[in-house]
Amino acid sequence: MRIPIKSVTPETGHAEICGFVHEVRDLGGLAFFLIRDRTGILQVTIPKKKVSEAVLAAAKAVSRESVVRISGPVKAVEKAPGGRELVPETFEIISLAETPLPLDVSEKVSVELDTRLDGRFLDVRRPRVAAVFAIRSAAMHAINDYFHKEGFISITTPKIVAAATEGGTELFPIAYFDKEAYLNQSPQLFKQMMMAAGCEKVYEIGPIFRAEEHNTTKHLNEATSIDIEVSYADHIEVMRILEDVIVKTYEYVDKTCSDHLANMEITDFAVPKGPFPRLPYSEAIEIAKKKIEDPIKYGDDIGSAAERAIGAEMGGHYFVVDWPTEIRPYYAMPYENDPTICKAFDLMHPRMELSSGAQRVHNHDQLVQQIAKKGLNPESFDFYLKPFRYGMPPHAGWGLGADRLIMTMLGLSNVREAVLFPRDMHRLVP
Ligand code: ATP
Ligand code: MG
Repeated sequence: MRIPIKSVTPETGHAEICGFVHEVRDLGGLAFFLIRDRTGILQVTIPKKKVSEAVLAAAKAVSRESVVRISGPVKAVEKAPGGRELVPETFEIISLAETPLPLDVSEKVSVELDTRLDGRFLDVRRPRVAAVFAIRSAAMHAINDYFHKEGFISITTPKIVAAATEGGTELFPIAYFDKEAYLNQSPQLFKQMMMAAGCEKVYEIGPIFRAEEHNTTKHLNEATSIDIEVSYADHIEVMRILEDVIVKTYEYVDKTCSDHLANMEITDFAVPKGPFPRLPYSEAIEIAKKKIEDPIKYGDDIGSAAERAIGAEMGGHYFVVDWPTEIRPYYAMPYENDPTICKAFDLMHPRMELSSGAQRVHNHDQLVQQIAKKGLNPESFDFYLKPFRYGMPPHAGWGLGADRLIMTMLGLSNVREAVLFPRDMHRLVP
């Protein structure tokens, strides 16, 4: 029976392993193979005079990255990886890899990201890349677990929709029988409808589609969004939840992913400490004014350069709060005492925006007014507005980019590294 390579010890005595041929070294009378599975690497040593013809023939025929099944006694060897080696009694090639390989799995040669993504199945065989996705899996587990423990209901909303969420132009049209339809850019309207459905606390982790034509290191055309909506909560309350989600997710990764972090050579993994500073938008603009060359003034969006400048000053996660109502979506709730600013926020990592959220407008007529003020036609939001006419609890929520969360957590230079099969303007395959 096959055992994971990590569990192979001299005490195991005899072991059968399966995996990829990581490295081959032939020293004449002695050949060394490194065999790799998801759990680690094992040295297989072949003293050519002492093994069977069959073993020798297979060892000679095999190529790097082929899949093999090998069995034999294990003994302690100080210099070998993990301090043990296996001398094969059987050596079976299950699936022979063609040569040359499209990319080098043993990481001796650095590879362009494009080449890596073209051969993603090989790229993910590299332990440091596999680590990214193991950590991403752990992080998503922590997030699901958090919501479950906090009494959230997990929902799934349609990705094929008839209307835009925010009236933006960044939508992918699709052919839907004889109608025009789009891929949804956000579950925003649906999660708000679930407040009218009385669900009180919902979350969704799912794809969002944005037909943005920019080619940056932090934008994808298909991203994964972690979305929540909470009834009877204001922006303050959902910011607290967001902070909690971030800290608990880092804590879980720190606690459970030490091997993966080591594979990525991350030795200084730091769990952020809450509460994160709340920086009013007006102060953020003042910081940016002093630090960036391009002119920026109150009422402008905070672009990438400004984000980085403010981030450098803040030094850790922080919230930007109290945004001008004019530059936030129609569903953001203006402050009662000063409606020119609203109860919207962004959660920032020093490198970039991670999340946007707000307390929402729950009054039907006010919402209609705000939609019209943005130059949108309230009639095309009929399906969304209807729930506001039959009893809508006050509510607040946010959307957090999962890909950016992982990218910033692991210090990756491109968001594509945090996504298995990224979709951008130039990449549709694989
Ligand atoms: P940005 O200004 O950085 O383009 P945004 O304000 O347009 O982001 P939101 O609509 O606020 O994005 O979406 C909430 C979160 O979803 C963002 O903070 C980000 O983490 C993630 N997100 C949005 N669009 C993308 C995208 N194209 N690629 C990757 N993540 C995205
Ligand atoms: Mg945003």
